[in-house]
Amino acid sequence: MAAPKVGFVSLGCPKALVDSERILTQLRTEGYEISPSYQDANLVIVNTCGFIDSAVEESFDAIGEAMAQNGRVLVTGCLGAKKDMILEKFPNVLSITGPQAYESVMQAVHQHLPPSHDPFIDLVPPQGIKLTPRHYAYLKISEGCNHKCSFCIIPSMRGKLASRPIGEVMREAEKLQKAGVKELLIISQDTSAYGLDLKYREDQWRDRTYRTQFKDLAEALGELGIWVRMHYVYPYPHVDDVIPLMAQGKILPYLDIPFQHASSRILKLMKRPASSENNLERIQAWRKTCPEIVIRSTFIVGFPGETEAEFEELLDFLRAAELDRVGCFAYSPVEGATANALPDAVSEEVKQQRLARFMEVQAEISARKLTQKIGQTLQVLVDEVHADHAVARSKADAPEIDGQVIIENPKNLKPGQWATVKVIDTTEHDLIAVLA
Ligand code: SF4
Repeated sequence: MAAPKVGFVSLGCPKALVDSERILTQLRTEGYEISPSYQDANLVIVNTCGFIDSAVEESFDAIGEAMAQNGRVLVTGCLGAKKDMILEKFPNVLSITGPQAYESVMQAVHQHLPPSHDPFIDLVPPQGIKLTPRHYAYLKISEGCNHKCSFCIIPSMRGKLASRPIGEVMREAEKLQKAGVKELLIISQDTSAYGLDLKYREDQWRDRTYRTQFKDLAEALGELGIWVRMHYVYPYPHVDDVIPLMAQGKILPYLDIPFQHASSRILKLMKRPASSENNLERIQAWRKTCPEIVIRSTFIVGFPGETEAEFEELLDFLRAAELDRVGCFAYSPVEGATANALPDAVSEEVKQQRLARFMEVQAEISARKLTQKIGQTLQVLVDEVHADHAVARSKADAPEIDGQVIIENPKNLKPGQWATVKVIDTTEHDLIAVLA
């Protein structure tokens, strides 16, 4: 399935460039490709400037060129505020939106060129297709993957690991921070492998040399003074280097590590990266360095050949590891995956039973961990404000996939604002709090 391609023309002042960056980041995150030529693009976005007459002229020229060369054009930016003028010259543009309206541009893109959403490939959850609020953004640091997990078809579809040089990633991160983003969610298929394909090449950012590598990236991102959350990290030994940065408050004490199983035989059958590591020992060591660390993970039960004993081993791991957030899936074959050829498929009934047993064990652990937070004071980032409550998140909660902090009597809170709250109660997944 080819990714939909978007052409992008950006004109104007630094503010407009920040908007462009925001739109480009969102497009990339949702799986669109940015096309360097009009001919290859399925549609073209023109981010215009209308500040002075010459800028208006330039914007009209750019729209005219995109219409002539491609014909499917979305106009956004300052000139978008003068809709009638644009429509008079170009009645066939697909949509017109004004400045700082990246949400409406993305809506127009979805309408005219739907994203090719594939639950097995996308890094953001299906709900992630909904526009992320302005105060957080996903930042993709690489494409593709060098592994060959037997249940996964991503490498055959997306190719080998292709990292973006650290300078480029950091410039994008800085632009997002300047645009008001307060939390960056770092994503890739394999975040800990970042830079391997570039041989950890050195690059410049803010007069300093950094290597294109996981720890240097964490260090550089830590300079931005905003929340930085690492997703899709595999437990390679060098991940240990990043934990002190979490303890120092440089990046969030949060690791999203898809362990998938605990039995070494099943992990080998899955061909998982870092499958021979002793994950339990690692987790304990991380907690020693950074007691605050929150670990989220996902698991698969009912993988072909999984015996009752191996499943029990997984439950024992779960009890011992006491992970904070856990997702679990019953194995289901993906067309084209090598695991489909493995013998001893587990029956649907047993898969569902194991899924229920797994969730029961974890529910108890999660509930205990949440209850321990009652009485604590937390810094939170507000996502939504309603009449009688606000929805926020603490350092422990990634958007869309983790729990939330529900603040009673939100007073004058606004989305994107920091707040200090005191936890007074819990529900199954969320914390209930009041302003401190
Ligand atoms: S690490 Fe494994 S599951 Fe993740 S993208 Fe690569 S092959 Fe797929």
